[in-house]
Amino acid sequence: MANRRDFLKGASLLTLGTLAACNANGGAAAKQPAAPGSKYIGLQTYTLGGELYNDTANVIKKLAEGGYTGFELAGYNPQARGFRSFGQDAATIPAGDFKKMCDDAGITIVSSHLTPNNLERGAKYDASTKDTILEYWKTVIEDHKTFGVEAIVQPSLPSINNKEDALNVCEVFNAVGELLGQNGIKFGYHNHSNEFNKVIPGGEAVTPYYQRGFRRPDDDTPEPETIEKVFIENTDPSKVFFEMDCYWTVMGQQDPVAWMKQYPSRIKMLHVKDFVVIGDSGAMNWENIFTQHYANGNKYWFVEIEGTNSGHQLEYALESAKYLLAHDFA
Ligand code: MG
Repeated sequence: MANRRDFLKGASLLTLGTLAACNANGGAAAKQPAAPGSKYIGLQTYTLGGELYNDTANVIKKLAEGGYTGFELAGYNPQARGFRSFGQDAATIPAGDFKKMCDDAGITIVSSHLTPNNLERGAKYDASTKDTILEYWKTVIEDHKTFGVEAIVQPSLPSINNKEDALNVCEVFNAVGELLGQNGIKFGYHNHSNEFNKVIPGGEAVTPYYQRGFRRPDDDTPEPETIEKVFIENTDPSKVFFEMDCYWTVMGQQDPVAWMKQYPSRIKMLHVKDFVVIGDSGAMNWENIFTQHYANGNKYWFVEIEGTNSGHQLEYALESAKYLLAHDFA
């Protein structure tokens, strides 16, 4: 009996010792999260919907306390010279006032999402609309200098049916990049899933659901290309960069890391979006995505969470920050 008791005692100790060694080697239980503010964490403010405009200064302060250090704005309206796009009751917050609230909280405004709103719905981007599009961009520059942004990003896909349409958009994007560049602001483009629709010259765009397995060996029509590829390969790298929305890239049946490896100098910012709270779904391989983003020499990325009417967006943003503070790869 004594031998058996000694054996069990030894086994227990061994087990405890093994567990302790596992924790010391990086098990989740032993990991200390990074302190809020000790590393960069960006937020796309679209996430908050109307919640940002109810006691705005205090919401920004809570975000900073939760770990956010950078913003990418959404909802700036050049006609109102401020923010009032979420909710009829939201008062306009002038650019300088918003900038001060961010400064006071220690949050840097890195970027801003904007799409020209002075074209007719569905109007194409081409030589006939280029000047009108540039007129829009001229109206946003002054306030964005006030914000101190490094970049402005267009998040919406212009109307495209074929490769010619996509190439025309590239020409307009180059002109926008040149205009903003002259004002010290970089111009980027952000994808959803439709950018992974494929186009051919003179044809009709097709969705990823129809683009596989239908091409016959004797088909001599041009190889269809994704709109995203046409954009990246036909815009001037000195004028246009790309912000990859990792979630929408996956929804377009593509691997964000493969794109980041293929175009390491073109994809400079990311949208870190999951199904709701970052890291909860287990569907997005954030370790691989962040590792590649940093390996490409990039710094900025922005948490984004859909469902802007949930009533819980601030809570979800703060939960996401906890996940990102707890993981060294972010
Ligand atoms: Mg996005």
